Amino acid sequence: MTPLPLGSKIGILGDGQLGRMLSQAASRLGFKVVVYGPDAESPAASVSAVSKVARYTDEAALDRFAAASDVITFEFENVPVSSLEYLVSKGAKVAPNARALGITQDRVLEKTFARSVGISTVDFYEVNTLDDLEKAIAINGVPALLKTRREGYDGKGQVWIRHADEVRAAFESLNGAKAILEAKADFLREVSVIAARGFNGEVRTYPVGENHHVKGILSTTLAPATISETLKKRAEDIARKVLEGLDYVGVLGVELFVLDGDELVLNEIAPRVHNTGHWTQDGCLCDQFEQHIRAVAGWPLGDTTARFQVEMTNLLGPDILAWETLSQEPNSRLYVYGKDDPREGRKMGHINRLKRAV
Ligand code: AMP
Repeated sequence: MTPLPLGSKIGILGDGQLGRMLSQAASRLGFKVVVYGPDAESPAASVSAVSKVARYTDEAALDRFAAASDVITFEFENVPVSSLEYLVSKGAKVAPNARALGITQDRVLEKTFARSVGISTVDFYEVNTLDDLEKAIAINGVPALLKTRREGYDGKGQVWIRHADEVRAAFESLNGAKAILEAKADFLREVSVIAARGFNGEVRTYPVGENHHVKGILSTTLAPATISETLKKRAEDIARKVLEGLDYVGVLGVELFVLDGDELVLNEIAPRVHNTGHWTQDGCLCDQFEQHIRAVAGWPLGDTTARFQVEMTNLLGPDILAWETLSQEPNSRLYVYGKDDPREGRKMGHINRLKRAV
């Protein structure tokens, strides 16, 4: 693809903080951003040249969005696949592709895909009925983790089954949602890799980050993490297999469990820029947001070398109220998403603290 010229229009489906930071990166490179989402006062709309406020399934609004954009991307993985397919049918250029979105929206399809390209996952079982779950527990044993196949995030839609007598209650807690039962991963650490692929097939990978979750929500990422060469190569290899297997264009995040012996097991693929990649804003010359914009605009990919080790900390809910103190910390940079209501657990901003030059 010939690179989109300066001043071209980039459409972003989704209007949250990831859209906001994509929009800011795009405008720095001279693009105009058209953001599309359900909320007029969203984090992304307030920093974008044009904002389209509509449901993701509104075909008339999607038509206008397609007409207003030179290329369309997304920042939210629960955009309906049918909306992407509709945009493509109307002649829009869309990246990443609809197949990649469909696979990564569904934990069973995602793990099946991972295994098909030679990436390890935990053992898993498709669960549609109580009978399926009972059979899966009989094979797998306990403990095991029951998750909804779709739309789970930040630990939502997940329940541990620690005793066989908890099976029915666990099944009922998902209210009939299609589910997956996963074997417990005995991981030593949780890491992630952020990587990009261009239209020409070029792949660039950022250094691996180590992640800490509190109550199922990402709290901190330290990157580059201290890891062995073997682990680094394995993580890069996994990122490449995912990107190539999905014929992906753009940035994605792959969450991995590190087992004994530096074995890596894929937990989840996020088909978008990722919270565990925010450290790149201050650790690298080309951060994940600029990289995604470069990829979907057909520009050459940017430098993913780390210049600084960074600790990224999410500011959840009332954490943001300490903005004045945080804004005075030396060697750090504060990012605020412009959301009004700092309710418990809500991602309101983050702070990148520089640890050392690399
Ligand atoms: P997820 O929503 O799949 O990213 O899961 C949220 C968190 O739950 C992960 O970051 C892990 O800490 C934990 N977790 C998820 N799946 C498993 C598993 N199969 N075994 C052990 N822990 C898990």
